[in-house]
Amino acid sequence: MNTLKDLTPEQREDFFQSKYSYFKEFNKQLVIVATIAYLSFFFTDCGLFGRFSHETVLSRVIVIVPMIIFIALYKRITNYKIMVFATYLMIHIIIWCTDWATYLLTDRTYATTGMVIMNLIFVCAGFAAPFMWSTIAHAFLLVDITIAHQFIHYEDVAMMYMFNLPCIVAVCAMHKMMQRVYLDQYLTKESMQNLLVHDQLTGVYNRNKLKELAEVSTGKLCFARDIPVSLLVVDIDHFKEVNDTYGHESGDIVLTHIAKSIKGMLRASDYVIRWGGEEFLVIVPGCSLNEAEKMAERIRKLIEDSDNTICPLTVSIGVAPYTGGNYHDDIKRADEALYEAKGTGRNKVVAYKEEISE
Ligand code: GH3
Ligand code: MG
Ligand code: MG
Repeated sequence: MNTLKDLTPEQREDFFQSKYSYFKEFNKQLVIVATIAYLSFFFTDCGLFGRFSHETVLSRVIVIVPMIIFIALYKRITNYKIMVFATYLMIHIIIWCTDWATYLLTDRTYATTGMVIMNLIFVCAGFAAPFMWSTIAHAFLLVDITIAHQFIHYEDVAMMYMFNLPCIVAVCAMHKMMQRVYLDQYLTKESMQNLLVHDQLTGVYNRNKLKELAEVSTGKLCFARDIPVSLLVVDIDHFKEVNDTYGHESGDIVLTHIAKSIKGMLRASDYVIRWGGEEFLVIVPGCSLNEAEKMAERIRKLIEDSDNTICPLTVSIGVAPYTGGNYHDDIKRADEALYEAKGTGRNKVVAYKEEISE
């Protein structure tokens, strides 16, 4: 079974971000409910005084200010580090305000009871947070109690520690388990997503990848507008003959070899997609038509020169610039260039020119 230690630092970051994103709505509601619950304790204050508790009004109402700031942050910021920190800060502000209100009350016997609710809030906040964060933030409750005791002088401070310490340990153990469960779910989702966009034979992307790279409604590729993007359509020459002569399995080996060769020539930011049976689409962001033609020529040469294959292999490549509209139109242009390469002897690179389509 995978643990967090098996993940790379980038995967770990992505995991924590995904955990926060999944539970962030719940987190927001938790902050709102905790604030309302805290405000409602004003009525308890009135009950304790037997009249309108004007002494505790400010210490109760003030909590609305950080809540509003939290909601404003929530709408603008998606980064889990900022938002998890903001959530725990909000919870501790509620604790400090509780201490303030308790200080103003004459009867403090209910302070331990209030801690039950605080522990429940920590249980809920742990869903969206990394385990280490939830542990540290929850353990800080003991520091809060120690500081508050200096001026509140709880009659039952030993009871406060004895009650909260096991609560913190139990909640942390539960958070550890929950994180494990979410990690399993996250890894399953990741591997499903990987399967969905990869071709099982060659290991390069399949057509589904384009759903991630292009807008569904317009077919526009999602790259920065100011960079050139080029498209290559690579087609194996006389591949049917490879199948007919050496068998389908050997054909599969050839396909995998060609896919690997193409991938080996590209940068990490480029995409190789198995477009058809023995046809690959290569998307090269940040590459002009001229540079793409040279790159295609290097691919063609590499495959022509490879000597550890079942039989001599060659490919024909059509190159076209991405013009910023529906990518299908530009692939059609690269296809026309490919058709020209096939019609004029194969094993060559042809770049799209207006005259080809005339
Ligand atoms: P051309 O040079 O004109 O491209 O000729 P070709 O023989 O490469 O092209 P054609 O379209 O006639 O044949 C493509 C062949 O690719 C036919 C099909 O059996 C084979 N093919 C498609 N997908 C696979 C696959 O996954 N594995 C294997 N082994 N063969 C495949
Ligand atoms: Mg072919
Ligand atoms: Mg073909």
